[in-house]
Amino acid sequence: MGTLKLEGLMKRYGASTAVEHVDLDVAEGEFVSLLGPSGCGKTTTLRMVAGFIEPSAGRVVIAGRDVTRAPPYARDTGMVFQSYALFPHMSVAQNVGFGLEMRKVGRAERDERVREALRLVRLDHLAERFPRELSGGQQQRVALARALVVKPAVFLLDEPLSNLDAKLRAEVRLEIRALQQRLGLTTLFVTHDQDEALAMSDRLVVLAHGRVQQVGTAEDLYERPANAFVAGFVGRCNVLAGTEEAPGRFRLETGTVIPCGHDGAANPATQRLLALRPERVAISRPEREDGLVGTVTSVTYLGAQTEYHVDLGGTDILAIRPTPPEGDGLRRLASGDRAALHWEPAAARLLASEE
Ligand code: ATP
Repeated sequence: MGTLKLEGLMKRYGASTAVEHVDLDVAEGEFVSLLGPSGCGKTTTLRMVAGFIEPSAGRVVIAGRDVTRAPPYARDTGMVFQSYALFPHMSVAQNVGFGLEMRKVGRAERDERVREALRLVRLDHLAERFPRELSGGQQQRVALARALVVKPAVFLLDEPLSNLDAKLRAEVRLEIRALQQRLGLTTLFVTHDQDEALAMSDRLVVLAHGRVQQVGTAEDLYERPANAFVAGFVGRCNVLAGTEEAPGRFRLETGTVIPCGHDGAANPATQRLLALRPERVAISRPEREDGLVGTVTSVTYLGAQTEYHVDLGGTDILAIRPTPPEGDGLRRLASGDRAALHWEPAAARLLASEE
């Protein structure tokens, strides 16, 4: 297995730029996801790594070798596509063995490796079936086996779960992660599904408009988002504009002052953004009208948790709390009621000033 290094990778189509600048180091055996909204450049980046798209600038280095200009088959990558892309006229075993045949691996070794790859994805009993005789999840496992069988240095997955229903997705994602860890596969995974990326990855790369916004663990992105885009894209977040008028005191544009974590010299002249996760916002019935008291504008019961929108002097604050037990006064909180909000100052994080 090998490492993967992307250096200043860029792709232009005429006047438009699909990928602006991507630098990334993936360690041996690491699972890294590219996460971002539609059109942010995930697939283009992955295809440049695989060799299906030629970069306009930058380098792709796999296991220490510059492969930027190498054709796909000479890159030592295995790729799994969203559409599976199985050959319909070949059996499962033939599909999986195809890459080995292309590489002129002898018959006996080929049969053995195909059997081993199918065992890994638990499909050895279906080796003689054709793709049309398999379920979606089984077809995707054949596609996985086909990529694994060539023992690639880098494993590339392009939204491999998006054609599966929710339950199967959750199952197959656990299988892929377990297999990846067991085999120590260096993996680059593309998805727009943040739950999937958070659940599977060692580290994530958040992309927007062809640029890397932040690289980090799930916890880094969630607890310490680099900017408002990451704060809003990874999980739900109140992103509030204003100024830090004194250490730990944040004046919202509407004039209300709220507590915040302090990150250096407060400068009342500089516009800042503050990120406050909704599950960090406690809500209660106010005893007095001082402190952070606002008017509830909506209450949405979601079973385990309840979402409250509260208008705090003209600023909407979302609070998400475990649903209070029946009989608790808070359970009957409704639109139009007054509610007091509370959070630990450190939970309201000032974001780095935007360029
Ligand atoms: P999705 O999740 O929707 O697949 P993505 O993040 O994978 O999105 P890309 O497919 O990488 O996005 O596309 C990035 C940008 O480049 C988009 O704005 C897209 O329209 C543009 N693009 C992609 N391929 C081409 C092409 N062949 N010619 C011109 N523009 C392209």
